[in-house]
Amino acid sequence: MDYLPVCLRLRGTPVLLVGAGTVATRKARLLLRAGARLTVVAPQASAELQSLLADADGEWRRVVYSNSAQDGQALVVAATPDAETNRAVYRDACERGIPVNVVDSPELCSFIFPAVIDRNPLLIAISSSGRSPVLARLVRRKIETLIPAAYGRLAEFAGHWRDRVRTALPEEGARRLFWEQAVDGAAGELVLAGRETEAATLMERRLADSSALHRGEVYLLGAGPGDPDLLTFKALRLLQSADVVLYDRLVAPAIVDMARRDAERIYVGKSRADHAVPQQDINQKLLELAQAGKRVVRLKGGDPFIFGRGGEEIALLASHGIPFQVVPGITAASGGACYAGIPLTHRDYAQSVRFVAGYLKGDRVEHDWQQFASTTETLVFYMGLMGLPVICRELQAIGRAPDTPVALIERATMEGQRVLVGTLATMEDIVAREKPHAPTLIIVGDVVRLHRDLAWFGERDG
Ligand code: SAH
Repeated sequence: MDYLPVCLRLRGTPVLLVGAGTVATRKARLLLRAGARLTVVAPQASAELQSLLADADGEWRRVVYSNSAQDGQALVVAATPDAETNRAVYRDACERGIPVNVVDSPELCSFIFPAVIDRNPLLIAISSSGRSPVLARLVRRKIETLIPAAYGRLAEFAGHWRDRVRTALPEEGARRLFWEQAVDGAAGELVLAGRETEAATLMERRLADSSALHRGEVYLLGAGPGDPDLLTFKALRLLQSADVVLYDRLVAPAIVDMARRDAERIYVGKSRADHAVPQQDINQKLLELAQAGKRVVRLKGGDPFIFGRGGEEIALLASHGIPFQVVPGITAASGGACYAGIPLTHRDYAQSVRFVAGYLKGDRVEHDWQQFASTTETLVFYMGLMGLPVICRELQAIGRAPDTPVALIERATMEGQRVLVGTLATMEDIVAREKPHAPTLIIVGDVVRLHRDLAWFGERDG
């Protein structure tokens, strides 16, 4: 971090603004909004700035800048068109140890102004560390649309209750749980709807019945195939509310990083060779954590209910009456197919698609292979890298043409995604030569022909 974002209390604090042009006027408005006692030093000032100062009991000193203007000031901002004056303001402030900002000159700043989303008392500050204010403002615009205006009211409401709750729930963990359930739950929704009185009644009830606090819950979240941007809003929101996050190998580190900083992270990865944490132990762990009152998130690669054993993980919870939610994710077939430019269905090539488990049992992939005879159905094999030679052989054995197109997508949607294209007859050799690593997905069917035209330019294989 090049800067530490902090929130300054400026109410009643003497602040010096040198300059009175358009930019200075903008800064004056911001400083006055935060309650600063503002002095403006400039030979001329716009009518707008003069009236701003008049409304807020600010002072305009109609003089050129000199060092003594900084006497008694706690913060200094310069926005003059004159580089020499700006440098002098900076130098003088540094000598006095007063925090200083020269607008648009990061090298003359001991602090910088972030872009601000103001839902007072809720504030969101966005900074590019002086590198690109335009980018910071762009990010602000995006976030603006996500944060309802009423969040300010919610923050206000929480502020009123803060001391009461602190006294009633001295233990920090219980208090945080209470607040999470209040802000992110029914009480919060009532405040957002403008029904503060009912929200207050609800808060009273919940403070009186502390047993309601110790009920844990489990969220089984689909994390998508790899690209963190493919996470759903709902998954992100619940992930950020978790006390504990259980994740495995298929979940991108960038997604695990989106959990709260103080959330406990537990790796329960299984790889083919190393069955580090047996499924039963994972189920048991989820149960125990929830029974201990935790908000538990289990992150699953792709979609929890597609080859994800999500059903098993919640069965135990359900039988113990633990509340849970399952949030769908983009499954690897969907993500991989889109990123590789291979539509899974297509009016001309495939009217259905089938997701198939491709793992080896001994030296076989166990299926009734006759069911895969249709040439108008796309087949997507999960967990099929080891079984690929068997899959290609079995499909030809039931009469599928040797030149049926096959694509193998390695690390779909992740950095380094690679698409190998061949046929049922050639794929085994291609894989032997290219040696792709897990995770990989195998797509069989005529839709694979579209890859050449529909893949992103970076993905086209000549
Ligand atoms: N629940 C997951 C699938 C878990 S099974 C989902 O819905 O996607 C694990 C298999 O998924 C892997 O063996 C591989 O075939 C496939 N897979 C998962 N992520 C993948 C990725 N990023 N690229 C290619 N295949 C992937």
